[in-house]
Amino acid sequence: MIRSIMDYGCMVYGSANKSHLIKIERIQSQALRICCGAYSTSPVSALQVEMGEMPLQIRRQQLMASYWANLRGQREDHPTRKVLSPSWEHEKRKCNSFGWSVGKLVRDMRLEEVGCAPIIPLSPVPLWVMPQPEVDLRLLEKRQKEGSYETEVYNVREYIGSRYGEYVHIFTDASKDSKTDHVGFAFIIPKVKVYKNKRITDCLSVYTGEMYAIIMAIRWIREVKIAKAVICSDCSSALISLKEMKSETRQDMVIEIIQELHSIKQASLEVQFLWVPAHIGLRGNEEADALAKKAIEREIVDIQILYSRSEIKSIIKRNILKIWQQYWDNEIKGRHMHQIQSIVGKGRGRSRYEENMITRLRLGHTRLNSTLHLIGKNPTGLCEACEVSETVEHVVMHCRRYNV
Ligand SMILES: [Zn+2]
Repeated sequence: MIRSIMDYGCMVYGSANKSHLIKIERIQSQALRICCGAYSTSPVSALQVEMGEMPLQIRRQQLMASYWANLRGQREDHPTRKVLSPSWEHEKRKCNSFGWSVGKLVRDMRLEEVGCAPIIPLSPVPLWVMPQPEVDLRLLEKRQKEGSYETEVYNVREYIGSRYGEYVHIFTDASKDSKTDHVGFAFIIPKVKVYKNKRITDCLSVYTGEMYAIIMAIRWIREVKIAKAVICSDCSSALISLKEMKSETRQDMVIEIIQELHSIKQASLEVQFLWVPAHIGLRGNEEADALAKKAIEREIVDIQILYSRSEIKSIIKRNILKIWQQYWDNEIKGRHMHQIQSIVGKGRGRSRYEENMITRLRLGHTRLNSTLHLIGKNPTGLCEACEVSETVEHVVMHCRRYNV
């Protein structure tokens, strides 16, 4: 509640004198201290790491960069875009107004090289002639209603065979490497032995990759003039956005697909979409998956795709975390805390896994034999080495297997 009020307008007041900004920073440290009961002498930088709240100075940079991304996605003639261009200030020695400081910031993050997809994409095809994509989500609904049994591979195969027997089957998929942020997609048409995969711009979302795979598949259909085709994808979010003709993040791609479908229709061809479950051993789907994974290993990016606003924002967020991390690593104060937690942005630093572990240890019910015995999964509940009840206390304090 407090932070949002301090955030408001920070692109404007962020250039204020340090002695003014410090007043706001005090509010943050005060609030954080109240939240966690830290002693008043605790270094603020350590308190921020402990509570997962970045320094306001860095937060302002994040908000400024996001604001920049919003403006960049607008049309050229958007009146507020003017703040991005150089101004009269260059006569002065020190320029720290929004346009200048955000310019430097996004250059440091190398965001300027990145293209932004338009936020409000306009379709060249008039609304009233837009074809509505035909999306078959029956298998998805079945899975949600009846569990995975009904979407076993033989059921799926039978469904595709009976419902789409006369169609050419096309499988699409996308993949992303969480370490390198490489993204790739594939589409395959087993019937005619067409296997295509490409690496696309790094850091795109998998969803974008899935959507792009669909676009490329439709283009192929149009070029080769396949009379009836069904595109099978395991990405429910992509297919749902097609069905609703609406996407929070990539409306530009929804429109591109609808345009493609428009020309498909004009060429008297037919394309349907079908959701298929992943990882059940459906051959086309597995092959597309493997091929998409191969694409991300390619040396260079084959196709550059514009970023959506949310993709840019996640890149910004990552860069901002790096800035915070550097700040935390180079701080002089708070070294006691740094020894305990050197990574920023994790809040109180315990993962769900660790929280669970602590809870189980405290409650004394774990996967040790004493508990397993209670649910009939261990015959005796005893420690195999010591032949006494294998409790938490036994393992931590007494067990001879862990005596060092
Ligand atoms: Zn023991």
